[in-house]
Amino acid sequence: MHPENTAGTEALILKSYIEGRWVTGKGTGHGLVNPTNGRIVATCSTEGIDFRNALAFSRTAGGPALRALTFSERAGLLGKVADALAGRRDRWFEIARINSGNTKADAAIDIDGAIGTLKYFARLGAGLGESKTLVEGQPARLSRDPNFQAIHIGVPVKGVAVHINAYNFPAWGLWAKAAVSLLAGVPVFAKPATATAWLAQEMVQCVIESGVLPDGTLSIACGSARDLLEHLQFGDVVSFTGSATTGQMVRSHPAILARGVRVNVEADSLNAAILGPDADAGSPAFEFFTREVVKEMTVKAGQKCTAIRRILVPTGQAAAVSDAIRAQLERVTVGDPGNEGVGMGPLVNMTRRVAVEEGIRKLASASETVYWANPLKLVDADTEKGAFVSPILLHVRSGEDAPVANELEVFGPVGTLIPYRDKLDAFSIAERGGGSLAASVFSADSAFLSEAALELAPSHGRILLVDPSIGNAHTGHGIVMPSCIHGGPGRAGGGEELGALRGLWFYHQRVGVQASATTLTSITQQGTNPATSAS
Ligand code: NAP
Repeated sequence: MHPENTAGTEALILKSYIEGRWVTGKGTGHGLVNPTNGRIVATCSTEGIDFRNALAFSRTAGGPALRALTFSERAGLLGKVADALAGRRDRWFEIARINSGNTKADAAIDIDGAIGTLKYFARLGAGLGESKTLVEGQPARLSRDPNFQAIHIGVPVKGVAVHINAYNFPAWGLWAKAAVSLLAGVPVFAKPATATAWLAQEMVQCVIESGVLPDGTLSIACGSARDLLEHLQFGDVVSFTGSATTGQMVRSHPAILARGVRVNVEADSLNAAILGPDADAGSPAFEFFTREVVKEMTVKAGQKCTAIRRILVPTGQAAAVSDAIRAQLERVTVGDPGNEGVGMGPLVNMTRRVAVEEGIRKLASASETVYWANPLKLVDADTEKGAFVSPILLHVRSGEDAPVANELEVFGPVGTLIPYRDKLDAFSIAERGGGSLAASVFSADSAFLSEAALELAPSHGRILLVDPSIGNAHTGHGIVMPSCIHGGPGRAGGGEELGALRGLWFYHQRVGVQASATTLTSITQQGTNPATSAS
């Protein structure tokens, strides 16, 4: 074990939990680093793991065990998983600091977000009661004889849910997907991103050791996915989170296409925040807007899929907004996330730093740089060894001026200020992101806010409308709430996750059942209607 793993001198070797036992992959595997100093803290490998057998075990052991339980019994399991994880919260924060470069505030979004989401679905699931089937809507009459009717019901798919996650949320990514899948009655096969698999792996180990989950309901592969997708079958589902490029590859994998495996993709996104035409410098909407932009740019060093990338402001306010954001960015301290005075830590590793620096060069070549701390002054860290970049604010002249600002997601603390002429121009620039996860609009004019919502809706998954009455109460542009859907159209992947009980449908087969009223009644009496359950 590496000293940072609490004892010894060797890097920790992360095992995978496959077919109900812990296994170590062959070879040296991939190194996971501490991005603050570049030291390797753990390694992992999936070489030699038989993914065919691994998935088969989840299907044959985990699936039946979960399907035998009612929604409320599965919800009980989620509650116990949350309790087990909450008991070791300090450890999760330690790993997030060491392996993800997270400050406490960064880690809280991931870790408390994970535990909170599990608890949320435990509560919702309890409200579904002692049933195992979803019932949708009311019976519909199909013919002249009123006795012949139809209803739609949902039953859990009989396969395994393969959850492929991005590196930036090793805890929330894992448990937000697992909560819904387990509640739906579908076993989980988690594939965390290798760079930060340590936190996911140790959390899974904690839950397995707590003994709350039936065999086969939770597995984890730490390391490369190798031939995992080749062994998918009809009835399996894949929920992918990551870059658009990998998402496309997953979506078009021959086994997935040939066997009709259902896929949900959460990919990258060029989220916009819009300052309303009414919000002059110094107004509450203006202040809430600039504060939110700076928070979104710097939390997790900008490594949030929902982070604000494009800052849309009325042309007449561009200078004032730029001054206000720059002044706040100047106060952000960058360095070792273990130092309480540090506001922003490093990116996840040097590979990502190189990619972000390359992206910044592309964006900056088409824009004016408003803020960039160069040289970057670090607290308790060395710029040669750590994966640090400065927060950067760029400025283009108009929405048409720099297409790259609407097309290139730079996954770091980078925002581009884009002035708009009028409200229609603002909506059109937002839409040029090609489909985004989230947009936020700041204004004191509720007519403008509601118009913005309807205009932005076709190209977004979630819209946050901030008038001053909720300036301090809202949960944040970039925070995914389990009660709201997460996902976005177009380049954001076209996926949809969470959203309270809506998320259950991804793991269910929806089927139309046509029969006599009596027969339908006997089916529906065994089910539960998520739209009317206590939630
Ligand atoms: P990534 O490189 O696309 O990797 C995502 C996941 O796919 C990782 O677990 C990766 O495993 C796995 N993967 C890679 N090749 C695979 C293959 N051939 N078969 C199966 N799985 C494979 O993304 P990332 O760098 O981890 O995350 C950053 C990106 O994710 C950003 O673009 C961000 O916008 C996006 N993101 C989106 C959301 C959202 O909800 N929409 C949330 C977070 C992040 P390895 O790590 O082993 O390569």
